[in-house]
Amino acid sequence: MDHDNILETNGLNHWFGAGEVRKQALFDINLTLKRGSFTVLMGPSGSGKTTVLTLVGCLRAVQEGSVTLLDRQLNGATEAELVALRRRLGFIFQAHNLHESLTATQNVMMGLQVHRGVSDAKAQTAARHALDLVGLSDRVSYLPANLSGGQKQRVAVARALVGNPALVLADEPTAALDKDSAAEVVDLLKRMGAERGTTTLLVTHDNRILDRADCILTLEDGRIVRVDDRH
Ligand code: ADP
Ligand code: MG
Repeated sequence: MDHDNILETNGLNHWFGAGEVRKQALFDINLTLKRGSFTVLMGPSGSGKTTVLTLVGCLRAVQEGSVTLLDRQLNGATEAELVALRRRLGFIFQAHNLHESLTATQNVMMGLQVHRGVSDAKAQTAARHALDLVGLSDRVSYLPANLSGGQKQRVAVARALVGNPALVLADEPTAALDKDSAAEVVDLLKRMGAERGTTTLLVTHDNRILDRADCILTLEDGRIVRVDDRH
């Protein structure tokens, strides 16, 4: 694989169910993400967007075709290798999934729990820094209940970025946000791309985000039907 590429899939097919209800969800998905790029995956509900993210995020086993992530082939990788790869990813979901009983800082520290051997003091410093990046340095001790929707989503972004991931996988992260908060989240991810080489693959229906994408992939019924490369 080209070393400028963080991710490549080739001929990726996926099925759900067994026997009579077995149904193909993905057909021949071929995609390439260049280091530092910001790619948007679009498509109607049920078109397969989340399935793609979970496959390339090592959250689901590859059935057919190949996925190469960070120069590692996922097919045939051991569980230990998959765990090591997952540590280099940052996940952001539509629902922010914050722990209601933990402060913003503690929630962001959870993003480092998967990194063995990080002391609490170091994790806290890193969490504060990540919250600073997302503009929440004055909210570090707040509980989620006392944050707005946009602020909670920014905590989730900080949690995804705190481990300095090579690839951020975001599933409709701006769906619950107003226009300004959505733009802030996207701008932040783009800045991470420019400053740290972080690559982003983001699922959205949100037209406001498309202007900022380097590449837009459109899924329909499990197939990539359009590739709009802006370079
Ligand atoms: P999207 O994220 O674009 O809305 P999904 O990737 O969630 O789409 O789903 C793609 C297709 O696969 C849909 O037809 C959906 O019903 C089906 N599907 C997704 N997850 C499962 C599952 N765990 N079991 C059975 N079918 C599933
Ligand atoms: Mg989905």
